[in-house]
Amino acid sequence: MEMPLPNAAVIGKRDRVVARLAPLVAADALITDEAERRAYECDALTAYRCIPLAVVLPSTTEEVSAILRVCHEEGVPVVPRGSGTSLAGGALPTEDSVILGVARLRDVLEVNYDDRFIRVQSGMTNLSVTDAVEGDGFFYAPDPSSQLACAIAGNIAMNSGGAHCLKYGVTTNNLLGVTLVLMDGTIIEIGGAHLDAAGYDLLGLVCGSEGQLGVVTEATLRILPKPEGARPVLMGFDSNEVAGACVSDIIKAGVLPVAIEFMDRPCIRACEDFAKAGYPDCEALLIVEVEGSEAEIDEQLGLIKQIAHRHNPVELRESQSEAESKKIWLGRKSAFGAMGQIADYMCLDGTIPVSSLPFVLRRIGEMSREFGLGVANVFHAGDGNMHPLILYDANKPGDLELCEAFGAEILKLCVEAGGCLTGEHGVGIEKRDLMNVQFAPADLEAQMKVKDVFDPNWLLNPAKVFPLESSAARRAA
Ligand SMILES: Cc1cc2nc3c(=O)[nH]c(=O)nc-3n(C[C@H](O)[C@H](O)[C@H](O)COP(=O)(O)OP(=O)(O)OC[C@H]3O[C@@H](n4cnc5c(N)ncnc54)[C@H](O)[C@@H]3O)c2cc1C
Repeated sequence: MEMPLPNAAVIGKRDRVVARLAPLVAADALITDEAERRAYECDALTAYRCIPLAVVLPSTTEEVSAILRVCHEEGVPVVPRGSGTSLAGGALPTEDSVILGVARLRDVLEVNYDDRFIRVQSGMTNLSVTDAVEGDGFFYAPDPSSQLACAIAGNIAMNSGGAHCLKYGVTTNNLLGVTLVLMDGTIIEIGGAHLDAAGYDLLGLVCGSEGQLGVVTEATLRILPKPEGARPVLMGFDSNEVAGACVSDIIKAGVLPVAIEFMDRPCIRACEDFAKAGYPDCEALLIVEVEGSEAEIDEQLGLIKQIAHRHNPVELRESQSEAESKKIWLGRKSAFGAMGQIADYMCLDGTIPVSSLPFVLRRIGEMSREFGLGVANVFHAGDGNMHPLILYDANKPGDLELCEAFGAEILKLCVEAGGCLTGEHGVGIEKRDLMNVQFAPADLEAQMKVKDVFDPNWLLNPAKVFPLESSAARRAA
């Protein structure tokens, strides 16, 4: 869905802002050419596009501060951007906004094994953080499937999770501190290398705030020693509901695997074609991984397999080698890409109580038939974070709108089941108009008052997170 072309007033403003930004950064760090700006017209929610006013790629916190000060003085909105892998349209520009990309902020600033933290610039990719400490036996736990590309900045903004977050928690549980630049250019420090900070928990507020409160330029992250060993087991079932019931029973039993991932038949096929991981031919597959010493792994898997047997699995197979485990995870982590080769899809991100999995999976199947659109499911089942992929044809008139309507119904179902609109992908533009489903007007007002404090003119990441009418009214006020 292409947005309208910029008008003369927008072009006049662009010339003035560009003239003021140019002296602040290296010559190649300010992008004004239309063809190059087009590279920033969307994120991974590619159904929505809009070319920004300009793109600026600073290399230091001080440059970020100077850029924001100019935009603040000029009243120009700013869209912070990491690697642009958001699935919620979080980094989608507006025609009057400057994209501030942190891709050039990618240095390791400090590694401290005694106190188990690493301090990095926020443009570093998620995987390169683990790469920096892996040789010394450590890792950074949150592992989004996009970890090769996505930046720590985007992970903090979206409070990202991943397959192994069941045991280790999501970004907020592994973030110790940030350097944050406010819209008026003020640089503040929140948290640090220590576990807890005095005063308000501003770190909790910033993590998951979707670029609404400030621009994160540096982050202090918890690192953990790598476990002695890990082993996944593949469990195949003959229906989604039965697999869902098995997940619910594992969690109820109090066992804590490091990951419980779910895939249904369309995803199993697509991932198997891609990774040749040896996935069984079945309706629903769970990948359950435990870690520890060999004895600990055997004990935990013994208990998990006992639970699985109560649900008559059609396959129950432990990985026999490191190479096999790698393939099993390669298949799972490639699921979105593999499905993208088969059909256009919209990836949802609702979270529900684990005990509701069988009911919600059954309802999604029924709704798929009602809307006449296919659904594939691949998700972090252990923490109830669902990712129904609604399959549609982007070239068929009306299909996108039908897909959006279906998506809205699924997310409402998640809220009705006691869950929430987003587990890890954030609200962005995708779910902003559904926020009324989750929150009462007074709840939303309290959240918007927080933005009033950090960004009184509502210039940071406009038209996201809050229902469009509410944020437009706030900006105009
Ligand atoms: C194939 C694929 C698989 C994925 N798998 C997962 C997964 O397993 N788990 C998961 O959680 N997500 C997943 N995602 C979604 C996405 O990768 C995450 O949301 C990721 O954290 C976004 O990071 P990014 O650097 O690309 O951010 P962007 O897309 O650039 O931006 C995301 C948000 O962060 C804000 N932002 C960016 N930089 C800053 C900054 N410096 N300061 C303040 N705000 C900022 C933006 O304004 C925007 O709102 C997946 C995406 C894809 C395409």
